[in-house]
Amino acid sequence: MQETRSTCPYCGVGCGVIIDSDGAQITAVRGDPAHPANFGRLCTKGMTLHLTASSPITRQTRLLQPMHRAHRADAPQPLSWDAALDLAAGKIADSIEKHGPEAIAFYVSGQLLTEDYYVFNKLAKGLIGSNHIDSNSRLCMSSAVAGYKATLGADAPPCCYDDLQHAQCLFIAGSNTAWAHPIVFRRIEAARAANPGMKIIVVDPRRTDTAGMADLFLPLQPGSDVMLFNGMLHLMLREGWVDSAYIDAHTTGFAELKTLVRHCTPERVAQVCGISQADLATAARWFATGADSDPAQRGATLSLYCQGLNQSSSGTAKNAALINLHLATGQIGKPGAGPFSLTGQPNAMGGREVGAMANLLSAHRDLGSPQHRAEVAALWGLPSVPDKPGKSAVEMFQAAADGEIKVLWIACTNPAQSMPDQTTVRRALQRAEFVLVQEAFAGAATCAYADLLLPATTWGEKTGTVTNSERRISRVRAAVPAPGQARHDWAIAVQLAHRLEARLRPGAATLFPYDTGHPEHGAQTIWNEHRASTRGRDLDITGLSWPLLDAAGPQQWPLPEGRTTGAARLYEDGIYPTADGRARFAAHAWQPTAEQRQARYPLSLSTGRLRDQWHGMTRTGTLGRLFGHAAEPGVQLHPQDMQRRNLRNGDLVQVSSQRGAIIVPVQADATLGLAQAFIAMHWGSEFLSGRSASGEPLAGVNALTPSAFCPASRQPELKHTAVQVLKA
Ligand code: SF4
Repeated sequence: MQETRSTCPYCGVGCGVIIDSDGAQITAVRGDPAHPANFGRLCTKGMTLHLTASSPITRQTRLLQPMHRAHRADAPQPLSWDAALDLAAGKIADSIEKHGPEAIAFYVSGQLLTEDYYVFNKLAKGLIGSNHIDSNSRLCMSSAVAGYKATLGADAPPCCYDDLQHAQCLFIAGSNTAWAHPIVFRRIEAARAANPGMKIIVVDPRRTDTAGMADLFLPLQPGSDVMLFNGMLHLMLREGWVDSAYIDAHTTGFAELKTLVRHCTPERVAQVCGISQADLATAARWFATGADSDPAQRGATLSLYCQGLNQSSSGTAKNAALINLHLATGQIGKPGAGPFSLTGQPNAMGGREVGAMANLLSAHRDLGSPQHRAEVAALWGLPSVPDKPGKSAVEMFQAAADGEIKVLWIACTNPAQSMPDQTTVRRALQRAEFVLVQEAFAGAATCAYADLLLPATTWGEKTGTVTNSERRISRVRAAVPAPGQARHDWAIAVQLAHRLEARLRPGAATLFPYDTGHPEHGAQTIWNEHRASTRGRDLDITGLSWPLLDAAGPQQWPLPEGRTTGAARLYEDGIYPTADGRARFAAHAWQPTAEQRQARYPLSLSTGRLRDQWHGMTRTGTLGRLFGHAAEPGVQLHPQDMQRRNLRNGDLVQVSSQRGAIIVPVQADATLGLAQAFIAMHWGSEFLSGRSASGEPLAGVNALTPSAFCPASRQPELKHTAVQVLKA
């Protein structure tokens, strides 16, 4: 029996796990008591990792060899790795020669390890010369990134999990922490038990399980968050609850924001948000004072937020408006205080760190900065990296649907289920001349569109690193060998890159000197290159190494050379990573959702997670016990909305939007507000069939959702679609 320390592959809490294996199979998983994210605790998904990894269904659905189809109507046929890589390199090089590098696009994943992400980014921007690389993190955290950068100057969550123990007021907005980040929720429960005076405010259109522990629940209208936050600031100003000394010493831009929020009167906020003025006043007071009865004795206020703020056409404004409150009240840079975005995926942070998104470069550099481009070119030994902005996720699939992008290389993500506006996504996958899908699970819906399928390793088989919500880098380690012919994601990219180099840079030294024959060594070499790229940057980890991670355990960044531990929290000195060292207030007026409710589509549909399922269920859907919490798909409606439509629990209904319709059982749910509907995001074609507006077969809730996105972060609005629900 062998023990391997690793990290849970599901959410951004980043819990440490200890894997037991017999050399061939994973036999048990338990929480790692030494890991500072979870101290031995695991949620249902983490606790069942060994069962999903070894489930017979998982084994049946693993992709074990490269598969190719010469014609789209054919069934895929196996081929050798050499033939598969030669084929892919030939298709990509031909396409570059014919159409230019921007005909090639990569859609990658917050489930990839940092090392995978690093290689994909270098391959796209360094070798091919296309900035069209984006990640499903665009659907997850890009509004949080844009919000941090617009206000604090860097994509750096300033808080840590330990802050939960120091907070006197917790402000949870757009996050069902109890389901989506269960171990953080356990820590909130523990903090409340230790400090019964702690006040918890929950802001959410749904009365979620998280709202069940709130002292104050604000059931705001979908999409009205910016109005709420600006209205809270209006009251803080009126009542003298802001921290003028902090504003004067550490910020800029407050005058403009003050002018903006003057119009956010309690009457107007109550009307737009659908909450009472009394509750608004309580929220503003508790937030500003840390729930202390004496405003002069400010307690600490910590915000936790997630997709309710991010997945919005005004996602950046929502994030910035919340951070404004922290800056205006000095609730930042001290224990228990600050804005703390909860990362959805296990390594959305790592992907941003290596710059594997359409607008980023290595080590939090910006593609738009000539200096940053020159720095990255020098690091990679290239004369330049391309300056033309890449396409973000929604734009990328639109460009492929329009025939502009010819080759789509998709790794470790399932856009044929998870992207909004599935009609466009399907058109993109059908119109692209070559679709390469690198996947562990053959059942992922996107595999059906692949011209070439490359089998990838997954959790339990891979080695590398991930970064969790509190900037903590943890090791991921292999406990069992790769099944069949599966290869590591970074190794596939490297082996394909070597073939491309023979066509694109004949005779030049390789840009990818990583040993694919020795995964531990190869992955560490990649990570060391990433580490070197962080020197002098906000996430400087030049003092960190894999031996240090092995000896001392997971570490938070920054950890520059000369230090032995990372920084628990940021901005304790009140100096921000901006040109003048000051944080910036961002003045954003409230904007309604992209799609408004109307007579034909009178309900607001939100999508979200279930407690025990993950993404498109390729892993969690293989285990019966994980259906105990929610056995089948459903659309939840308020009981009065059911009554109005003469519906009973279990009736089949058609849920339709401007883009398509799905058939699903209806369930009464009084936790929703009137005129609201909810469908979990996980259910795919096995559970939820539907059609596009023009009659093509589609599946899942994203048959309905719009492609509208936030203009600053380009994150799509998955939390609001105008729909109708009628008896099927
Ligand atoms: Fe895994 Fe997240 Fe659960 Fe922790 S909270 S065990 S990281 S799914």
